[in-house]
Amino acid sequence: MDTTPRAVTRLIEEFHRLPGIGPKTAQRLTFFLLRAPKEHAQALADAVMHLKENVVTCSICANVAEQNPCAICRDESRDRSIVCVVEEPLDVLAIERTREYRGLYHVLHGAISPVEGIGPEDLRVGELLTRLQKDRGIKEIVLATNPNLEGEATAMYLERLIKPLSIKLTRLARGLPVGSDLEYADEVTLTRALEGRREV
Ligand SMILES: [Zn+2]
Repeated sequence: MDTTPRAVTRLIEEFHRLPGIGPKTAQRLTFFLLRAPKEHAQALADAVMHLKENVVTCSICANVAEQNPCAICRDESRDRSIVCVVEEPLDVLAIERTREYRGLYHVLHGAISPVEGIGPEDLRVGELLTRLQKDRGIKEIVLATNPNLEGEATAMYLERLIKPLSIKLTRLARGLPVGSDLEYADEVTLTRALEGRREV
């Protein structure tokens, strides 16, 4: 007979649903919270709700933001002729940290992955095309997907779509560790990859 309180198994199940959290970690997190002061658990619960209530998706670049349009899209000092296409909002943060890039972004919210059944229709690809067709001021697209299988497949797919629009297409220079995620790249490597971007 399972004597574990329902409240405990319920939280374990919720943690287990998060990406990268296995059953062991889900248990550890749950028992950590069980032993933690009540304020700690409350702060976590509040942060989760605050996230859902105060974060919106930018209607221009699909990045997560507190306001729509996001602070980057609203910033008039940025170069509006160049758009960097990334997989995740965290990639925007990684590129922003380099302080090297002054253009705008487009967040796909994932990458094409036949294995996981993720196709272009699951990503913000349609929004990107509409944006390019509407905003004639965009002169360059930097494809900055992750240097792994899914990222490569996504970049190649976008290349084929965007090429006919006669907009300059570039990709990050090699040098990023293959198979890695952009968000984990250090600033120097990422800066070099941006500076050395090549036309495709
Ligand atoms: Zn935006």
